[in-house]
Amino acid sequence: MGYFRDIPIRRKLMVITMMTTGVALLLAAFGIVAFDAYFFRRSLKRDLTALSRMIADNSTAAIVFNDPRSATETLSALRARPHLLSACIYRADGTTLADYSRENSPSGCPTAPRDDDFRFTGNLTVVNPIVLKGERIGTLSMVYDLEEIPERMLLYGGTVLGVLLIASLIAFQLSSRMRAAIATPISDLVRAATSVSQTNDYSVRAQKQSNDELGVLVEGFNEMLAGIQRRDRDLRAALRDREAALREAEAARERFRFMAESMPQKIFTAKPTGEVDYFNQQWMDYTGLTFEQMRDFGWRRSIHPDDLDSNLESWRHSIETGEPVSSELRWRRADGVYRWHLSRACAMRDGSGEITMWIGSSTDIHEQKEKEEELRRANEDLQQFAYSASHDLQEPIRNVSVYSEIVAKRYRHLMDADGLQFLGFLTEGGRRLATLIDDLLAYTRAGVGESGEPAVDAASALQETLSTLAEAIRQSQARVTYDTLPEICMSAAHLQQVFQNLINNALKYRGENPPEIHVSAMKQGSTWRFSVRDNGIGIDPEYKEKIFGVFKRLHRNQKYSGTGIGLAICQRVVERYGGRIWVESAVGEGATFYFTVPPVPKTAAAAESATG
Ligand code: ADP
Repeated sequence: MGYFRDIPIRRKLMVITMMTTGVALLLAAFGIVAFDAYFFRRSLKRDLTALSRMIADNSTAAIVFNDPRSATETLSALRARPHLLSACIYRADGTTLADYSRENSPSGCPTAPRDDDFRFTGNLTVVNPIVLKGERIGTLSMVYDLEEIPERMLLYGGTVLGVLLIASLIAFQLSSRMRAAIATPISDLVRAATSVSQTNDYSVRAQKQSNDELGVLVEGFNEMLAGIQRRDRDLRAALRDREAALREAEAARERFRFMAESMPQKIFTAKPTGEVDYFNQQWMDYTGLTFEQMRDFGWRRSIHPDDLDSNLESWRHSIETGEPVSSELRWRRADGVYRWHLSRACAMRDGSGEITMWIGSSTDIHEQKEKEEELRRANEDLQQFAYSASHDLQEPIRNVSVYSEIVAKRYRHLMDADGLQFLGFLTEGGRRLATLIDDLLAYTRAGVGESGEPAVDAASALQETLSTLAEAIRQSQARVTYDTLPEICMSAAHLQQVFQNLINNALKYRGENPPEIHVSAMKQGSTWRFSVRDNGIGIDPEYKEKIFGVFKRLHRNQKYSGTGIGLAICQRVVERYGGRIWVESAVGEGATFYFTVPPVPKTAAAAESATG
């Protein structure tokens, strides 16, 4: 069976066909021969019974007249049956009346059989009674040889064998032709499959030759090959793209490295999880450490202990949120000296927004930091000086004003016209000096003050300002309107200071018509933008930046009194909170002052950093 399993289908089909045909024909032959033997015996029995009856009937007269000659003649008719071996006619007493035996056969009759019989015992023996008018007068016995049966069987067997051979030949011829209908498509299929597996050429196709199951199989195989060919093509294209992308990425990486190495800054890259995987040479040169010592989180050992925790915390926060990180911290140089650096890092993302890496730089800002510190100290000293000077000057200047007014009241009758005019100059000068000193004091205070301001309702701050300016508003018949104003994170005193200066200016620099002032606020990105609009004389755009400087005025004192400090105070306050102030205006068309206030968290942070 194992051998059969492994032989080619072509031969298998041949073996199956031949075996099936052979077995079927053999069975048919056996059937035919067996049936023939059976039917032959039956017809022989029928035939001999009829013959023996006929002979028995013809022998009655010979028995009655005891005429052996006539009986022998009757029996001699049996010569026509070559297979009849012998026949005997017995009288009623069992003696033999006549007998017949075939040529070359022993003659003589055996003892008269008692019973009528029909026996197959090698030969066929038929025993029949001879009856006259219902009375048994004798017995007829016939022996028939059965050689006819093997003869017939031989004849039939030979015939069947011949038929078997011819049928096998025809079956072989037919099956040879017909098995091609099955074996050829299968061989084709095998050839195609072998060729594909050897050459990996998926364009090969098997030939469909019929619409039966094999045709379906070939079609399915071809479709499968077409699918594989398509996928193979796509896969190759994807592979090509990927290789190109990899080459491009490698080239980009090389470019980046080259750029990073040629920059004076210290550059690093880190994995999305924060482990640093690249430092440019500047880092090693500066820290005196090797890349192996610096990689991952090894760089921590080069940070000043006082800056380490806050820096690690910001780095951790950025890794969690993906926000950029920027901090000033001290890095230890190879000689052990710590120098201030500005370190920044940004996340690089892929098309789907996933962080692929962090790129960071550190710039040495040590000199700048030292200069800033010097400047801060000088500024503080200067502010302190301005504050003390303004403060100390208040007293003598107030004295000048007060005493010049007392002199004017008490001794005006002693003075001539010139004296009175000079005294007027003195009083006015004292008053202006006092205002100047007050403004200067306000300016020096604008940069300092409370920090960590709670949220203030801008509408309340504006109302407070309007009540302070109520008299000036009433006198100028001004109309002040405002929209809904938000809550912002700014000191109420500072916001009032800004409102007061801007509204006061709007009242002061009025045109022909009564002033119309409108205050509003709108969200711009993440900040609030306030505006104070008036219908006054307006400002030449040429001066729109200059007017925010200290003592910068566009008008002479005679017409509009002032010190040129109000807008400088506004700018200082707004910038203290990280905001910006500017004006949009044209001469004769009124002016709109804008200032921004950053959102609460940034404002708080700005306030913190402003106060150190
Ligand atoms: P002061 O008002 O005391 O002169 P400010 O700093 O408040 O000083 O203003 C600077 C200058 O800007 C003013 O002298 C004035 O010329 C101009 N200015 C300010 N506000 C307005 C305004 N609303 N309309 C026209 N000009 C203005």
